Amino acid sequence: MGNYLHCGLRNDLNARKTGYNMNTSKSALSYVPNNPSSPWQVYLQQVDRVAPHLGHLQRWVETLKRCKRILAVDIPINRDDGTVAHYEGFRAQHNLSRGPGKGGVRFHPDVTIDEVMALSAWMTVKNAALNLPYGGAKGGIRVDPKTLTRPELERLTRRYTSEIGLIIGPDKDIPAPDVNTNDQIMAWMMDTYSMNVGATATGVVTGKPIALGGSLGRKEATGRGVYIAARETARAMKMDITGSRVVVQGFGNVGGIGARLFRDAGATIVGLQDASGSIGNEAGIDVDAALAHVAAGGKLTEFKGASMISENDFWALKSDIFVPAALENQITAERAEKLSTRLVVEGANGPTTPQADDILHDRGIQVVPDVIANAGGVTVSYFEWVQDFSSFFWTESEINDRLERIMVEALKAVVHTAEKNKVSLRTAAFIIACTRVLAARELRGLYP
Ligand code: GLU
Repeated sequence: MGNYLHCGLRNDLNARKTGYNMNTSKSALSYVPNNPSSPWQVYLQQVDRVAPHLGHLQRWVETLKRCKRILAVDIPINRDDGTVAHYEGFRAQHNLSRGPGKGGVRFHPDVTIDEVMALSAWMTVKNAALNLPYGGAKGGIRVDPKTLTRPELERLTRRYTSEIGLIIGPDKDIPAPDVNTNDQIMAWMMDTYSMNVGATATGVVTGKPIALGGSLGRKEATGRGVYIAARETARAMKMDITGSRVVVQGFGNVGGIGARLFRDAGATIVGLQDASGSIGNEAGIDVDAALAHVAAGGKLTEFKGASMISENDFWALKSDIFVPAALENQITAERAEKLSTRLVVEGANGPTTPQADDILHDRGIQVVPDVIANAGGVTVSYFEWVQDFSSFFWTESEINDRLERIMVEALKAVVHTAEKNKVSLRTAAFIIACTRVLAARELRGLYP
């Protein structure tokens, strides 16, 4: 089966769950989905928008429309009750032209091949847009981690790591946290990989605990990057963050920390949403109290410092800045018509459909795309990887200063490219990134 190790998938039986249908799609690595809102389909449309701007490198554009390598693995584990359960996991390496693969691993019941392919491709673009020396990769397991005990979660993580051990490594492909994965999961991944190779390999994953070679500031980095992206863009729009009204969708590592930084800068958080529902408070939500409430196991919707509001009302909340920091496909065409904001800063990967992008553009709402806005996480992952290799660790202020510099420079370049080519910030980020990726592709040439 060559590079496409597709174990345990059965045609249409699993097609609905995996997003991959062997009957309608002859190709696995470059398949074109029927479903227009599939994340991979969204990504392909974004590539089509950048293609006319690639000059002579357009000849290589097909490289971007496929994954280099996708590994699908069966993950059997012993449940605590003595039964055996099987889960399905993936690791997709979209492009390795500029360096080893880099990208997170998510544990979520909706993980599909289609989604992992798109997420790996967005990592290629993100890493190149920030000029990090990486290709793009992403992994995931289709599981609801809340249904597992801690020992079961550890066994699942270790077996998955062992299965994808064929293609990961400090100089091959470096996983990191994403949706529902954290520093403890990274510690188990690092340990499993290290046991298998017979040496402690801290650089195989990033987002590790500090005690295992993790980096100061990594946990906060994605939220911090979102805030920096918002602050810089707001400044260019002559909008002040102090006194601005902010709505955040997602209250995890990205949305929660992002909300706190906006609040610290003098913004008022008027709406929040997570999987439990939405809340709003015109006078401002006390973010620290809401974070403490959720950390103690409470539902966001039961937080006393705000009122529960309907899904409909959440999308219509009046704000200056809207931060989608949950999952893909959240800003649909219909919601884009409803949004009452001036600036959208994408904390999540792929939250806006291309149709919604056009509507926001026509309505004069600026969008800072995911591949820039949420790149703070992978940027500090890069710092972590460099620190692990050199066994020399930086202070938190060194990390934050370097993050600030890289984000601000990348944003400046994107704004400049957007103005020069009269395109959106997303297409501009894709122009910069895809030019870097395809220039590397061309220089390397084809083997043999
Ligand atoms: N999962 C994060 C992202 O989507 C971080 C990836 C990394 O640090 O490698 O960018």
